[in-house]
Amino acid sequence: MKSIKVQMLAALLFGFAAALIAAGAVNAYSEKTWFTYSPQHKYDSSWPTGNDWQQRAIDSRTAWNNVSPTSFNWSYNASADSRVEYISLCCGRLGETGYWWCGVPYFSNICAAFPRIQNTGYTWYAGTGTPSSGQYDLWSVLTHEFGHGSGLYDHSTSGSCSGTGGPTMCPSISATSTHWRTLEQEDNDRLNSIYP
Ligand SMILES: [Zn+2]
Repeated sequence: MKSIKVQMLAALLFGFAAALIAAGAVNAYSEKTWFTYSPQHKYDSSWPTGNDWQQRAIDSRTAWNNVSPTSFNWSYNASADSRVEYISLCCGRLGETGYWWCGVPYFSNICAAFPRIQNTGYTWYAGTGTPSSGQYDLWSVLTHEFGHGSGLYDHSTSGSCSGTGGPTMCPSISATSTHWRTLEQEDNDRLNSIYP
């Protein structure tokens, strides 16, 4: 990369419905965007090598790739800077996303993103069925993190995030819940808004 890299963390994601955090004065349509509509990622060495984990990463990025009419599209590249990681995260987060920011003026673009899954304190379900009691759904949380990796902030906690069935970019999810695997209209609209 020719540009100076600035590493930042995305909005946080907590595992407990009771631990909702206010999104503050975030404007959902002013996110930073990738310098390209065709970002690429690889798997960090920490990412489990089981088929399920790699397939869930494919499924998670595909949820965003399927948004239309935008041509924004993730793909795999073994030499990409961006990578999915399975590492220890602060503060009980289920996941987070780091960034390298680049571009002019003022680091206005994303040049790499790091969707991360917490490797401490949670039991992950990496399949496509229904998680057992106490398990968190990898596919759901990783789809949320790929939304951050695409440039989206968390959705406001007010309104449609209460209860289940809200947009994938809502800030928290309960054990066994799988509803973030598929995007809601608002998730689609937001991606189309930043990548017209
Ligand atoms: Zn989030």
